Amino acid sequence: MTKRAFLFIGVVVFVVAPMLLLRAQTVQYPIELVPPGKGPYTFPDGYQTPWDKIDILVTAKMSPNLFVLHGSQGLDPAHPDASGGRAMALFGPDGVLMVDTENRQVAEKTLKAIRSFTNAPIKTIVNTHVHPDHTGANAFFAQQGGVIFAQENLRLEMIRPPAAAGRGGAAGAAPAQDTAGLPVATYHYDPAKPGEPAVTFTMNGEVVDFIPMMPSHTAGDTIVRFRKANVIYIEDFYRNFGYPFADQANGGSLKGMIDAVDLIEKLAGPDTLLIPGHGTFVKKPELLPYRAMVADILAKAKTLRDQGKTLQEVLAANLTAPYDKATQGDTQQSKDRFITEAYDEVKDFPPVVEGRRTMPTRR
Ligand SMILES: [Zn+2]
Repeated sequence: MTKRAFLFIGVVVFVVAPMLLLRAQTVQYPIELVPPGKGPYTFPDGYQTPWDKIDILVTAKMSPNLFVLHGSQGLDPAHPDASGGRAMALFGPDGVLMVDTENRQVAEKTLKAIRSFTNAPIKTIVNTHVHPDHTGANAFFAQQGGVIFAQENLRLEMIRPPAAAGRGGAAGAAPAQDTAGLPVATYHYDPAKPGEPAVTFTMNGEVVDFIPMMPSHTAGDTIVRFRKANVIYIEDFYRNFGYPFADQANGGSLKGMIDAVDLIEKLAGPDTLLIPGHGTFVKKPELLPYRAMVADILAKAKTLRDQGKTLQEVLAANLTAPYDKATQGDTQQSKDRFITEAYDEVKDFPPVVEGRRTMPTRR
């Protein structure tokens, strides 16, 4: 072998190979560690969620210092694919920024999961919407030092949830028992500037935008964009486990969910990873069939309601049938809720007042 050949092999072994290795190490994010379960899941009548059995795990890493937390599968009938709402933690020398706080019952476990990767103080919390699987441990984490940010509507929904105000519908949240759990830094959605961040944090090498959303899943939604990691936490206006849920009593709207998808279309790039509160991670093309389905069900519900059909008749028409096969985690309850929402939305839909709508009382 010539001297030149030796030199060539040397270059390959000592220069090129380590570069490839380094490259392999730098392109490995995001890493999904624990995907949500697929089911099907069944629970006996009278089943109670065994909170003591539910673990909060680091289920994904979006960058070296941006982790996703989620609960165990198969135990929580509200979210059998993975208990609770996804939470996120950005951590480093500037402290911890949390997106949502998980259920109150697993607050200690959520903190323990965070402490498995950082000892930094809890500094900032943003709530994506009022539901207890996203805000339940607010008071606990505020006591750890976190300052809670959210839309003003979310704060109002927490102070006086629809059920407590004597209204029917899908109320979601228990009244705030502990005022320590209320957001203290609030902002509004500005219809003139959709997609405009209300708050931007620069910390731990990341730039984080809190972007208030139009009334969609609720009237107090915020999505959270991590610019460097190129991920957006899109909370619950999109879901791929069970049928769409617009919490209309808390100001949500199916039409608003369509607008929310359209806004993501503008905000996200082709490689931006979208993190829903539940279900699997997606990229923006995957939102389009969902958008089409919501639009289709709204149109069909409108046609039937315009013909004078009652809610019972509309439910019996089984409008979601074409989608049942492709919808993971679909249940009769999830279908009926979705169609009822469409029925309620296409005629005499009440306006949002202080984060809520006065929806008809049923059941
Ligand atoms: Zn949720």
